[in-house]
Amino acid sequence: MRAIFLFLIVIIVFLLIMTIIRGRQERKFAKEQQEQQEKNRKDTAQKMISCEVCHAYLPEKDAICRDGKCFCGEEHLRQYENG
Ligand SMILES: [Zn+2]
Repeated sequence: MRAIFLFLIVIIVFLLIMTIIRGRQERKFAKEQQEQQEKNRKDTAQKMISCEVCHAYLPEKDAICRDGKCFCGEEHLRQYENG
């Protein structure tokens, strides 16, 4: 009877350790994913382009691009197309 009790304790301890290890791995994985996303966002945010009309620098995500030319706004896009 004592042997079965000890065996059960060993199994419970083993399961607890496995749960802790898995929890840590998942946290690590989630952290790495978060860091990767953060890095990707920074890379996109840091890419700067200049407006074809006024030559102002702005992040690519804020620019309006047509046919490989980028503009700071609709106004300069129209200005470029008309002139
Ligand atoms: Zn402009």
